Amino acid sequence: MKKMLHEELAFPGYERVVYYDDPSAGLKAFVSIHNTNLGPSCGGIRMLPYASKEEALKDVLLLSKGMSYKSALAGIGFGGGKSVIIGDPTKKTPQLFAAFAEFLEMFEGKYIAAKDMNISSDDLMMIKQSSRYVLGIDGEAGSLGDPSPVTARGILRGLEATVEQIYGSKSLKGLKVAFQGVGHVGYATAEMVVKAGGEVWVTDIDQKAQDRAAKELGAHVVSNDAIYDVACDIFAPCARGGSLNEKTIPRLNCRAVVGCANNQLATEQDGMRLLERGILYAPDYAVNSGGIINIFVEYEGYDQQKAFSMADGIYETMTEIYSRAKSANKAPFLVTDKLAEERLYGRN
Ligand code: NAD
Repeated sequence: MKKMLHEELAFPGYERVVYYDDPSAGLKAFVSIHNTNLGPSCGGIRMLPYASKEEALKDVLLLSKGMSYKSALAGIGFGGGKSVIIGDPTKKTPQLFAAFAEFLEMFEGKYIAAKDMNISSDDLMMIKQSSRYVLGIDGEAGSLGDPSPVTARGILRGLEATVEQIYGSKSLKGLKVAFQGVGHVGYATAEMVVKAGGEVWVTDIDQKAQDRAAKELGAHVVSNDAIYDVACDIFAPCARGGSLNEKTIPRLNCRAVVGCANNQLATEQDGMRLLERGILYAPDYAVNSGGIINIFVEYEGYDQQKAFSMADGIYETMTEIYSRAKSANKAPFLVTDKLAEERLYGRN
């Protein structure tokens, strides 16, 4: 008989956290279901060579809670969940994903898995051979595949709500936006800003991505480091997390930060640093929910127009966040969690 370890763990505020170890398949993984008040939990699978089990657990707890908040703010019928596989992503095997599928079945649809760091559509396809609880596979019938156009649309709406707060009108005409990263989402957002009459500055570690933005969008290209100093209205982090920190915030020469990267603030203190500098910060998880919105629409039966129109709702959510922040005289990032909690647990 196959030897497996299945360990149920209890954490306050979390519905179910399970560790699974299947030595024959080389699988060591956690699934964390934070909350299902609004619907089945959904969140990506992350595969990393975590230094320890504790480190992986910390990540899955944090990320699954983040998904509850993100989905609640997005107004979709998903709760928050996440999974992590502890392992070297260069050593993925079909056995590993078959074992992960078995693990997934244990939750009977209360956790739906999607892509995250180091997990591809091919990996999800392997899981799907033995589990129904997988969404967001590129090229599958009933899915847009790449969610970035929907994410970009949401960022644009977040941008409009932010610009309206600062200048009293949501028009992007003449707006100067500095993009850190012009990959899938960054480029698509920059394109919409230019179409709306704005001007863009870009940087990317990929020379081709920079060149394309210069050629197709008339973007001004600056070095990876100089992007922080660009005199602009909006700084848009669209590359990796943690780019707003004690070194970069003093350099920013903008009125607001709106971008798609996850976890833009290196620490919570950096939110206060932005506030002290009078820079309005649109919380990343409130504006970058287009990806999860796209998966939710896939869950219900894919309709691209519906996905875009749900992403348009990010404008209303951001307007509500700014208005609450103003009346409470607090930074927007401080009132955003509260709004998510009201949607998750009801008003108290
Ligand atoms: P992507 O890989 O297509 O684009 C990221 C771009 O950033 C790449 O062109 C890369 O070369 C560049 N980059 C990386 N490090 C950089 C650096 N230090 N300076 C400048 N450029 C750098 O990814 P994406 O799908 O556009 O997503 C961008 C970010 O948004 C990621 O953090 C992602 O997790 C987050 N996000 C994406 C989606 C989505 O729908 N794709 C949804 C929510 C959040």
